This record gives sequence, C-alpha cells and structure tokens, in this order.
Amino acid sequence: MINHLITQKNWQTQLSEAITSVDELLTVLNLETLKAQIYIPAHFHLRVPRAFVAKMTAGDANDPLLKQVLPDKQEQITVTGYVADPLAENDQNPIKGLLHKYQSRVLLTVTGACAIHCRYCFRQHFDYNANMPTSAEHLAITSYITEHPEVNEVILSGGDPLSVSNRRLFAWLDTLEAIPQLTTIRLHTRLPLVIPERLDNALLDRLSQSRCNIVMVIHCNHANEIDTNTAEYLQRARVAGVVLINQAVLLKGINDSVMTQTALSQRLFDAGVLPYYLHVLDKVAGAAHFDNDERWAISLYWLLLAALPGYLVPKLVQELPNRPFKVPIDIYKGS
Ligand SMILES: *Cc1c(COP(=O)(O)O)cnc(C)c1O
Ligand code: SF4
Repeated sequence: MINHLITQKNWQTQLSEAITSVDELLTVLNLETLKAQIYIPAHFHLRVPRAFVAKMTAGDANDPLLKQVLPDKQEQITVTGYVADPLAENDQNPIKGLLHKYQSRVLLTVTGACAIHCRYCFRQHFDYNANMPTSAEHLAITSYITEHPEVNEVILSGGDPLSVSNRRLFAWLDTLEAIPQLTTIRLHTRLPLVIPERLDNALLDRLSQSRCNIVMVIHCNHANEIDTNTAEYLQRARVAGVVLINQAVLLKGINDSVMTQTALSQRLFDAGVLPYYLHVLDKVAGAAHFDNDERWAISLYWLLLAALPGYLVPKLVQELPNRPFKVPIDIYKGS
C-alpha cells in the first residue's frame, strides 16, 4: 500500500485532483513497463482518485483495483455480441433522464459524471449530454411519478449521483420527498469506495432527516476497496440510518474466484454492508475481456452457496433488455 498517497482532503478537492494521466498512474505504481499495453479510447479516458490508487499494491500489474481502471489495448477488439447499448436503454426514456423499466421504481440519471472510470462500465457509450435532466425537468419528473401511482421508489443514478454537490443533491431529495407516494429513495454510487470523505456530515445529516427510507447501493467489486478509513465512513452512514447494500460485477481476473468473493462478502459485512447483487457482465463493446463463461459463473456460485451464510450470498443476476426485473441466472442449467 502506498501510504503517502492517503489524503484527508475534502472530497471536492480529491475529486478535482484525480489522476487522469496514464503516465502519472504508472509512475506512482512503479509499473512504467505496462505503457506498451495501454490504449485510451477517445470517448472514455482514464480517471481515478488518489485515495483509490492508495489501495492498490505498487509493482503489481495484476492488482484487482488497477485492472478495473487501467485502459487496455483489448478494449479495441471488436467482439460479436458486445454492443454500445447492451440494455437498449436509449429507447426507454419517457422523459429526459428518467428510466422506467421496472414496475415500482424509476431511475433518474442526475449526472453523467463519475469520480472514477471503470473500464467494464455498461454506460461508457451512453450519451449523457442528450439525457441530463435540467432543473426545469424536476417538474416533469414529479408529474410523471404522480401519474404513475405504482411507483414508490426513486433511484438516483448516473454517472454517480454523489459526484454532484450537496446543494444539487438536496434539491433532488426535497423534490422527491414532496411526492407523497414515494416511500424510498435509493442512491447507486461508487463514491464511498473511491472518495469515502464524500459521506460528509452534511450529507449524512440530510439523509438521516429524510422522511423516506434511504438505501445506498455501493458498487464494490473487491475486498481491497474497503480499507479502514472506508469502513469507518460506511459505518457512519449506517449509524445515520442509511440501509447499505452492495452490487458487484463478476469480472474475469479481478473477482471471479471463491476466495475473492467470500473475502468481499465478509469485508462488506464487517463494514456494515450486505451483498445484494452479483451481476454477470453487461455485454458492452470494449469490455469483452472482463467477461466470464456462464458455466464458470454458475460453478463459482455453487461454491459460494456452500461457503457463506445465506445472508452473505449475493443474487447472481443478469440484466437483459425488455425484462421487468433483473433476471436470476439459472444455476441448474445443464445439470
Ligand atoms: C437495476 C435497475 C433498477 C433497480 O432494480 P432492483 O432490482 O430494484 O435493484 C431500476 N430501474 C432500472 C432501469 C434498473 O436498471
Ligand atoms: S462509477 Fe459506475 S457509472 Fe461510473 S464508470 Fe464506474 S461503473 Fe460506470
């Protein structure tokens, strides 16, 4: 671990000082030799905050956190079946920034920005600029929800909804809490892992005062993402009444073994977070090298069922276009 990188700067500063230069990242990690295998697509550059880099091991080209963020030549390879919009989401926006795919919940993309760029991201080709709700759209979104009484939960997503300022985020919370039918507000975010200081007192106070259930789904793929500082911030969120659950993506060479998955579940639990979903990779162009054979995923899952208490086993699911829920992987297939 590279302790000199650990910083307690406020989250905005950490966000603006994220590493965006491959040369700098490789120098910091003593991995200059990797330069030859780098390729950076114009639409999706390198971006990683220093606190996340500090959780990597210098000199280790196979570090599971590094592999999630380091652009790689393999992204250039076109693989049949891996497409720009694997979930056909571009067709499911009734109004700008709002996705209504599942009966009781709608998803709002409050920003296209992320603190970190994950190479496997299924939204890496998404045209956020064309899909960002402006403040005028708060009203349209409120009317949409009111006209759909079956909706009781709003998911703030992105991009990363915690990459916006408290002021903007609180404006969304105010808007949503004023809609009586809503019982739950959910945030899908990777920021607590990437810049834990994002869970600042003002945010936690505001969340603890909400009249709605607040659920935070952190996107943690590997136990090494949760160091002591990160675990402390997560515990604070839990004390503030936030329900913490995790969704991970099954990534080849990063977390596709029984050992890494059990360590992840246990580390999450120690930090007050329960596993929720383990997603099979969405087939997005540029990410085929992270995908696992489905038979591998299934055999791994059987081992997890045997190794962990039931409450630490995430649901193994796949997101498919035009399905009304995340589809459970059939673990009896072929048996
Ligand atoms: C994943 C997702 C949800 C939430 O699904 P849950 O199964 O409730 O976690 C809602 N809307 C969209 C568009 C999604 O992709
Ligand atoms: S934080 Fe989430 S949305 Fe942002 S790049 Fe990573 S996977 Fe994609």
